[in-house]
Amino acid sequence: MKTAERLRRIKPSPSTAAAQRVRELKSQGLTILDLTVGEPDFDTSDHVKAAAIKAIEAGETKYTPVNGTSALRAAIVGKLRERHGLEFTDAQITVGGGAKQVIFLALMATLDEGDEVIVPAPYWVSYPDMVRANDGTPVIVDCPEAEGFKLMPERLGAAITEHTRWVVLNTPGNPTGSAYTVAELQALAQVLLAHPHVGVLTDEIYDEIWYGYEDAPSLAAVEPRLADRVFLTNGVSKTYAMTGWRIGYGVGPADLVTAINTLQSQTSSCPSSVSQAAAAAALTGPQDFVRDTVRVYRARRDATVKLVNDVPGLSCTVPDGGFYLLVNCQEAIGKLTPDGHRIENDEDFARHLLDSGQVAVIHGSAYGAPGYFRISFATSTDVLTEACERIATACAALKSAAAP
Ligand code: PMP
Repeated sequence: MKTAERLRRIKPSPSTAAAQRVRELKSQGLTILDLTVGEPDFDTSDHVKAAAIKAIEAGETKYTPVNGTSALRAAIVGKLRERHGLEFTDAQITVGGGAKQVIFLALMATLDEGDEVIVPAPYWVSYPDMVRANDGTPVIVDCPEAEGFKLMPERLGAAITEHTRWVVLNTPGNPTGSAYTVAELQALAQVLLAHPHVGVLTDEIYDEIWYGYEDAPSLAAVEPRLADRVFLTNGVSKTYAMTGWRIGYGVGPADLVTAINTLQSQTSSCPSSVSQAAAAAALTGPQDFVRDTVRVYRARRDATVKLVNDVPGLSCTVPDGGFYLLVNCQEAIGKLTPDGHRIENDEDFARHLLDSGQVAVIHGSAYGAPGYFRISFATSTDVLTEACERIATACAALKSAAAP
């Protein structure tokens, strides 16, 4: 079957590819320690499951409104009011099959050929390909580790052209764990106020997996003058360990939301009715699950950051949120493996960890971060400890290449 041109512009997600490779190696009987996983290792709470079962039994098994059930939309409005003091009308909210789908539809609804989307790197793998799939051009802006992997106002200003439609701000970020402070958001807002044609797509999916004292700030709340062009996306996947339920949402300008709803009405019709009942229960019910899991993530984060920084040649900074570490492995590049292969780049390094240490990680280039690799700490401390030992052994086995 001939496929469309747009398919030639994109590739499958590298995390899905890594998961496939891990499954293959496991099926060969190898004990792989998998640090590639992009989802919580906790189960969905019982009260959330109970709400889904109740919805099934009550016959909530039909199509829902395209933009989601009123109960779920009300729960989303409540969360954003409570957390950020933001007010949204019903016409400003849409619910979709995961934040991923909502972001995809927002791009589909707004991009024409030649339109540019500023994507700060390191980035979540899907942004550039989602832009390309929708005829846009990703404009990748490097945000080095020395700048906290964050977009600095000067770099934003320099990247904006008359073709810019969006800038993507993922905070806290995947794969870096970096989050923008209120002051940093204000500084970016100053630049954006001077360019009224640029929209901001904020991806706040890790907002609750957050290690700061005050809540993670949101651009829409920090600068109300941007309210008519911020599209805030979020979901229940990470916070409530509900990745398989596929519920995400977007809030922002009503005309954009209407356009997304039109696309949704012609694609999925609506998100799953049962999953929406579960998501509403997650958002409005007891929040102990969030507090308890964040406590666990924090302990794992602190332990793993220390273990990684104890490995000669590796280093990482302490993430503000999320459950990933972006580890600098630049010192390993150019070295030789025990069987004489030269580590040319981070992809070779990740392969070395898998082949010699049976530890699966994702190479940084997949996220626009060459010279790095991503560890997910959404796994047990035992696995993390053992994995870091194996990583240390694999690093120690590398030899400097002999001088020519
Ligand atoms: N944004 C980021 C930064 C993510 O890491 C993910 C999940 N990997 C998503 C969005 C998508 O989440 P959802 O399950 O709601 O589609």
